[in-house]
Amino acid sequence: MPIETGLADNPISINAMKVVNRLSSQGFEAYLVGGCVRDLLLGKAPKDFDVATNAHPDEVRELFRNSRSIGRRFKIVHIRYGRDIIEVATFRAPHEPSPSAANVTDSGLILSDNSYGTFSEDVFRRDFTVNALYYDADKKEIRDLVGGLADIDARILRLIGDPESRYREDPVRMLRAVRFKAKLGFELADESEKPLPKLAHLLQDIPPARLFEEVLKLFMSGQGEIAFKIMQEYQLFKWLFPSSNNAMQENPKTEKLITLALASTDKRIAEEKPVTPAFVYAALLWHPFEIERDRLKAEGNTNAAFEAGGNVVAKQQLFTSIPRRFSGPMREIWQLQARLPMLTGKKPSALVVHRRFRAAYDFLLLRELSGEDLDNLGQWWTDYQEQNPEQRAEMTRGQGKSNHGRRRRRRPKRTAENDG
Ligand code: ATP
Ligand code: MG
Repeated sequence: MPIETGLADNPISINAMKVVNRLSSQGFEAYLVGGCVRDLLLGKAPKDFDVATNAHPDEVRELFRNSRSIGRRFKIVHIRYGRDIIEVATFRAPHEPSPSAANVTDSGLILSDNSYGTFSEDVFRRDFTVNALYYDADKKEIRDLVGGLADIDARILRLIGDPESRYREDPVRMLRAVRFKAKLGFELADESEKPLPKLAHLLQDIPPARLFEEVLKLFMSGQGEIAFKIMQEYQLFKWLFPSSNNAMQENPKTEKLITLALASTDKRIAEEKPVTPAFVYAALLWHPFEIERDRLKAEGNTNAAFEAGGNVVAKQQLFTSIPRRFSGPMREIWQLQARLPMLTGKKPSALVVHRRFRAAYDFLLLRELSGEDLDNLGQWWTDYQEQNPEQRAEMTRGQGKSNHGRRRRRRPKRTAENDG
């Protein structure tokens, strides 16, 4: 269906156009597809550009020297122009729905998805109608076989085909529904929404590394607070963060702390300040960490805080992986919480120059905001940072011997911990 959209006037990435033009000049079909078309139609800047083509991955590789194959569940060719990566996917065919097929599990999950198909087959393999719009840059028109344009107008997210089997084929689509609902502010069509709580448990079948990637997109893209709410509404959250979910049942501060951390991350993203998953994960798992630490302490463990950190991470890894470059800093934020109440002698001056002090201090403020009573410790540290060295010395004059005599501020030794 040719539709004049005015898309031609939009700032489509020059590199994406290069890819499409080279493919079509070689006689292949090639379209811009997915999030970039959707976002351009909504007047948003696309995050990245995806291309769909009838050229096989090997043929794409031959045409572009700056390319490499990415072996995920389905093969994709990445074409790199500096920092810009264009993802080229070959049209996919429908899989065999028979449960005996080697690439589909009993629950309907697709394990591999590498049979190639035609344009119209590819359309129906996509997840949501608004993600199945194909832009033909030659003709300057959009091909829409699934009513995606009407759904964009109505601001509705609708799975293509039978929602339940589409979620079973790939349960991550449930998280994608949440992500696009949060990001676009669309409503989920009733029939796409209804099966969610019932099928949420299927997330258990997804490898933790893939879920981590999805969690990053959910929580680190600027709409984390709302995504968290929607995940809870559809009962998806507990399958990703079961320990956090348990702690939430016991202690309302848990949910508050997570919400505050996500809101703060959203705000920082809006202000183009740096953000890290370590901080968000620190909040997600803080109460599970405290519960575990107290349990170990009660057992007489003398290294309870450290070991609790390890145990909580190990358990979480069964659901969503946490790369070391994030779990390390996260655990440092936790360990510093125990040092922040030490306000006398040289301890504050050593702590304030710790590389993780800022994150730990921000985290402390959120703990207080979530309702933890820490005797205004956050305010003490806020004041401390605003003082000159003499005033700081005054603030930290305690009873200890260490407060007498000349004190020099020393840089704390850097620990050899993995820091991405
Ligand atoms: P974003 O703005 O986050 O990039 P996107 O819609 O482009 O959103 P991608 O993950 O880049 O999302 O995927 C590109 C396209 O590939 C989607 O628009 C969709 O058509 C298709 N797609 C991606 N993941 C799936 C999936 N799990 N099931 C079916 N189709 C998918
Ligand atoms: Mg995309």
